Amino acid sequence: MQGRIHSVFSGGTVDGPGIRFVVFTQGCPLRCKYCHNPDSWLYNDGEVRTVADLTNEIIKYKNYFGTTGGLTVSGGEPLLQIDFVIELFKSVKRYGINTALDTSGYLFNENNAELLSKYEELDKYCDLYLLDVKHIRDDEHKALTGVSNVNTLAYAKWLSNRGAKIWIRHVLVPGYTDNDEYLTELSAFIGTLKGVEKVEVLPYHTMGVVKYQNLGYDYPLKDVTAPTKERVLNAKNILKLGK
Ligand code: SF4
Repeated sequence: MQGRIHSVFSGGTVDGPGIRFVVFTQGCPLRCKYCHNPDSWLYNDGEVRTVADLTNEIIKYKNYFGTTGGLTVSGGEPLLQIDFVIELFKSVKRYGINTALDTSGYLFNENNAELLSKYEELDKYCDLYLLDVKHIRDDEHKALTGVSNVNTLAYAKWLSNRGAKIWIRHVLVPGYTDNDEYLTELSAFIGTLKGVEKVEVLPYHTMGVVKYQNLGYDYPLKDVTAPTKERVLNAKNILKLGK
């Protein structure tokens, strides 16, 4: 089984617990205005890697993972290549490696039985979901990412009902998501979910700007600066209520 891969990183400490090997898959149907990996958007730009080849690379780091670390598959949007993610998770699980998936949940569709069976299969091999809820309001979500949040919220509920372990991630963007009313609504939604172990507030940053310049893309958030420490703390406090 082959997948299209953007890059890999062997010493990840911000995408799930402990020290992690992070596989960034290529291809994403979203266009988040703050995306710092616009070079991961186009599926055909990735490098083709096999499950066997990646597994061999990942298991070399097994001793560094300890009891908490493991493999995280991030993106792009990993579930664009759900068959590949299932096989990769299944493969590393044979070596007892912990698995986490960082996803927007956008491709989830409860009404498609064939697809749903794949999500069920994936769930057998996924220890932790890092679910990115980019905006709680659908119209604002569309403005920020180009797509609806309906599937994301449905995926959150579906995972919750299955008893999955979830971390909710939320990028705090001044002028877009850094708004007490929105954060309070998000907090209330999180409060309806079971299995949420953690809510992570990720402050918006401008580190991806240079990639836009290199790709010849216009950077949509030119006038937006990172949120202040106070606002980050405020968001953390509000979202804590969801637990
Ligand atoms: S989902 Fe991730 S990779 Fe895709 S556009 Fe948004 S931030 Fe970028």
